[in-house]
Amino acid sequence: MKDVLAVVLLAGSLLLTPSVSAHEDGNGHTVSTERRVVAPSGWWKGNTHTHTWWSDGDSPPESVAAWYRERDYNFLVLSDHNRMQEGEFWYRVDTDAKRAALQTYLRQFGDEWVERRQRDGVTEVKLKTLDEFRSYFEGRNQFIFIRGMEITDRLDTHPVHVNGVNLERAIIPQGGSSVSEIIQKNIDAVAEQGRRSGRPMFAHVNHPNFYQAITAEDLIALEHGPGEGFFEVYNGHPGVRNEGDARFMSVERMWDVVLSNRIGEQHKSIVYGVATDDAHQYTDWGLRAVNPGRGWVMVRAPRLTPDSISAAMKRGDFYNSTGVTLSALRREGSTLELEVKAEPGVSYTIEFVGTRRSTKLAGTPETDNSEFPGGRVSLQYDAAIGEVLSRIEGTRATYTLKGDELYVRARVISSRLHPNPYSQGDREMAWTQPVLGSSK
Ligand SMILES: [Zn+2]
Ligand SMILES: [Zn+2]
Repeated sequence: MKDVLAVVLLAGSLLLTPSVSAHEDGNGHTVSTERRVVAPSGWWKGNTHTHTWWSDGDSPPESVAAWYRERDYNFLVLSDHNRMQEGEFWYRVDTDAKRAALQTYLRQFGDEWVERRQRDGVTEVKLKTLDEFRSYFEGRNQFIFIRGMEITDRLDTHPVHVNGVNLERAIIPQGGSSVSEIIQKNIDAVAEQGRRSGRPMFAHVNHPNFYQAITAEDLIALEHGPGEGFFEVYNGHPGVRNEGDARFMSVERMWDVVLSNRIGEQHKSIVYGVATDDAHQYTDWGLRAVNPGRGWVMVRAPRLTPDSISAAMKRGDFYNSTGVTLSALRREGSTLELEVKAEPGVSYTIEFVGTRRSTKLAGTPETDNSEFPGGRVSLQYDAAIGEVLSRIEGTRATYTLKGDELYVRARVISSRLHPNPYSQGDREMAWTQPVLGSSK
């Protein structure tokens, strides 16, 4: 209890924002209101989903960290599958690709840094733990690591992956008898660790359209407090089908379906969207490679520390980007206002997306009963869910809710192509978190 209050006081005092209001709900969660003013303070760039040699990434963690740090990221979660970077782990360098990554590692960090041995004629590298290498990279107001992992669960052939962010200890996949139950139990495990430690932690549900494993209804069903369960509205892995297809809705539309139904129908907590890299490859580059630098978050937090960043994200004080930077972002009362940090020669479209209260929110079963091997199909939803309520060509826009919107969020689409896109022709974008309409 004391620790939770301390976090609230810290956030309130350092932001110098008397209008930030936060309270505890009955379960010991810190709940901040959706409407508030946040004074200008630091924006920090980070990625919460990355892989290294500790699981199936193609490079050792120091090479991965160096990539991000050199490109002005401020924080990084090395979210390996089902493990943190701790304990003793000898990595077998048994392919040409791994040997090439080892050569890069040696070039970057030197012969003395890289501990090796021979086993059955194969070189093995002793991976450094996060505690061993973090101080090499971290610096005040420059760069930090936030501990986390990708809790990698499944139901039969359906992958169910949930990232735990700012964890102190690894969480084993919790299992369950349905996809929704598996997600719920893993989010609960993260929330429980957060409560026990008194530190701000959160979970994000990853790549719902990966093998069409996770439906909108799975996410609507979840029970969690605000700031406990997020979802990836953009994942840079080219195999995860963000865009959907004729049969499967895009993950951005899924966000609107989930927000509309949770808020308008079920009176449940908001779900924040997050953009991540899910990078696995740092040695091969291009369209089909699983590269870093595709999607990230910009977080407004008073301090660059794991707790300060995580607490800010739990309040929704962040936006997502694949290249567009905002110079101003205000979510105050019923107003959402933003300004793009314009780049020379680039034009911008700002769209406000939301759902009106009069829209039919419930889904209907899909009429196409043809066999679909493996995938799980969401219900069909009204096209007016997640409609574009306003569109502005320019770098600055304001939307004031008129009263009939359940929520409104903004996205910015740039005229500039992403330099290393998830998919050919992707433009640089940004997505804000939603502003909620007043409850009636
Ligand atoms: Zn995954
Ligand atoms: Zn991943």
